[in-house]
Amino acid sequence: MPWETAESADVLAAQVVLNKPLATAYTYLVPSELREQIGVGQRVRVPFGRGDRAEIGYVIDLGPPQATSRKLKRVLDVLDREPLVTPKMLQLTRWIADYYLCGWGQVLHGVVPAGVRKLSGTRLLTHFRPTALGKQAYEALSLSKKQRAAFEVLLSANQPLRGEEIATAADCGTGPINALKHKGYVEVVRLREETASYETEAAEAETDFIANEEQQNALTEIHRTLRAGEHRTILLHGVTGSGKTEVYIQAIREIVSYGRQAIVLVPEISLTPQTIRRFRTRFDSVAVLHSHLSDSERHWHWTQIAAGKVQVVVGARSAVFAPCPHLGLIIIDEEHETTFKQDSVPRYHAREVARERSRLEDVPLILGSATPTLESWHRVQTGEDQLISLHKRVGKLPLPPVVVVDVRNDPLVRKGSAIGRALGSAMRLALQDGGQVILFLNIRGFSPAIWCPACGASVKCRDCDITLTWHKDKRKALCHSCGIEEDAPRICPSCGNNAMRQVGTGTQKLEEEVRAKFAGITCARMDSDAMKKPGSHDTVLTAFRHGEIRILLGTQMIAKGLDFPNVTLVGVIDADTLLHQPDLRASERTFQLIAQVAGRTGRSSKGGRVFVQSASPSEPAIRRASEHDYLGFVTDEMRDRESMAVPPFRSLARVILRGDNETAVRTHAQEMAKLLQKTGEQRSLAVEILGPAPAPIAKLKGQYRYHFQLSAEGLDPIRELWRIVESDLPAAAGVEYVVDVDPVNMR
Ligand code: ADP
Ligand code: ZN
Repeated sequence: MPWETAESADVLAAQVVLNKPLATAYTYLVPSELREQIGVGQRVRVPFGRGDRAEIGYVIDLGPPQATSRKLKRVLDVLDREPLVTPKMLQLTRWIADYYLCGWGQVLHGVVPAGVRKLSGTRLLTHFRPTALGKQAYEALSLSKKQRAAFEVLLSANQPLRGEEIATAADCGTGPINALKHKGYVEVVRLREETASYETEAAEAETDFIANEEQQNALTEIHRTLRAGEHRTILLHGVTGSGKTEVYIQAIREIVSYGRQAIVLVPEISLTPQTIRRFRTRFDSVAVLHSHLSDSERHWHWTQIAAGKVQVVVGARSAVFAPCPHLGLIIIDEEHETTFKQDSVPRYHAREVARERSRLEDVPLILGSATPTLESWHRVQTGEDQLISLHKRVGKLPLPPVVVVDVRNDPLVRKGSAIGRALGSAMRLALQDGGQVILFLNIRGFSPAIWCPACGASVKCRDCDITLTWHKDKRKALCHSCGIEEDAPRICPSCGNNAMRQVGTGTQKLEEEVRAKFAGITCARMDSDAMKKPGSHDTVLTAFRHGEIRILLGTQMIAKGLDFPNVTLVGVIDADTLLHQPDLRASERTFQLIAQVAGRTGRSSKGGRVFVQSASPSEPAIRRASEHDYLGFVTDEMRDRESMAVPPFRSLARVILRGDNETAVRTHAQEMAKLLQKTGEQRSLAVEILGPAPAPIAKLKGQYRYHFQLSAEGLDPIRELWRIVESDLPAAAGVEYVVDVDPVNMR
């Protein structure tokens, strides 16, 4: 019977949160035999639901039970010997659950790495230590010479030792140790030891640069905040090449001198050896957390960080949870990157989590970008955050001139070329002068559509509402959503016509064109298809750095962060790919991308130029980016956002429903929206419900998708409404839903 009535004053109860979208914690009695082992932050196994299925949850509190008359179930088992999360991390994860409308247990499950839960890379080993009996009577014990030697080794060690260690030190076999054990003078303890170490070789130390005037001014401000030892968010807006990283490094130097640690978040694709080197050459101990770590590596780093042995943690999104014991500073580089938002539960944004964590720990947060998000800019405008600007590139280098080419009048593009006449001649010139070229195109594959000229239909994935992309290397049509690979139809599935055409250009086709037009010039393609093998990314970048590759073409992967002085030309093949997306941030993304790609050139006295091909050259996002006019762009865009009543002026939560049966999904979406609407009115909560409607990707992996949005001034009314309605939401068989607070992905 798992039941027990809690009546004695001497009972202990555990509050447990489970890996479920539940806002509540459940109370369980702690049986007396588990009292010694259980602790807050550890995992336990508990019976849950009608069938008392055993579930794993985290203990978030311990104490006498609240309602003494209620019948409580009992904790079955304690899984961890040590807490996996600190009290501070409990506070932070609770905030995340609250803010992102998910379960606290889900957050804990999501942020404690599997390798840490499983203690990967460690094993239990047998150790020996003297017993009380052995210690007491040591002088009088009747022992053989070897036994005495072994025993003395143990006594002087002052800590449990492994059999081999004793045997080596006492120059004996295992016999004497076993004899001591039999006599009750020593006992066995099982201790956990690391089986592997992932120490990195120390990089050659380099000295800091002498900060230029702008950097110095920024640092003076930052140091003031650091010394004040309080929370504050600083937006470091610095044009590409203005030396933001150097500012981060010297800010970290300050807090390391106080014995504190820093966390630096960068987008995953920026975790290149180049970036890592920049930190490793300046600090003694740097941990790099990327997504390819094995469980045991991750666990090892976690332990090192928690022990305070790491000065700087550099990592992608989830490094915001690094268990630094004396955190002094958090930095988010390229804060505008959408990869800082997690696309699965918990759907947190590392920037918001970092903001909360630095508030809880009273430390500053620095957000760096050449193209800050409207959200961050808005916070500066309202006075919530502090702005520090770097207007100029290091070494007084000018920003590169940008030419916008209207491809509607380009004879070559009209004939199907990806590289237009102007860009082509600019490439020839740059190469003649010994420079290198970067070509950016946001579409991978060979052709993004297979199209029927007779009926105008393009071939879609059978499971997704997405057109298939032709991949010439595989001779297959691929769905970029679900990854399915199919033979491309020769006959139109809609009308039976047998002259299907591949239309549009992806990176594979661009590569073919470059190789044909620039025969004899070395060229490499960098996109997720070409860079499947681990390390291939680094190999290509190294070859490019050494000039062994003259033309580098690719997707997002090459758009950001790269710092190659010999790149004298950047070409954007199609600036419009992001512009016509059904997304309130379409302009912002277009601006950011062009500004970032343009930032890859003009990084030395050789100078550099940018050619941006577009069919809508007068689009403000494109025009402003070509003028390097962030302020102009953000001013216009801010006005548009305000008039459209969208973020950063309103808060949004997006509810996405999916299921096999389209009618069921639609009906359920309508019922949910109606219930929210009605409850909102009853409670006088100013929440607007927008939709429901089919999601922009109306079908994904065979499931129909609908969505609607909750919009309000600030998140509070949305959260309040959701929490009221959540438990009453009608269940529908075969329909699942998720809530996405502050959604970034609108598809
Ligand atoms: P950002 O991140 O703002 O684009 P980086 O940090 O990449 O700029 O800096 C651009 C280049 O300038 C890098 O090669 C960097 O090493 C160099 N640099 C930065 N600060 C200085 C300085 N004070 N003196 C000399 N070189 C610097
Ligand atoms: Zn698909």
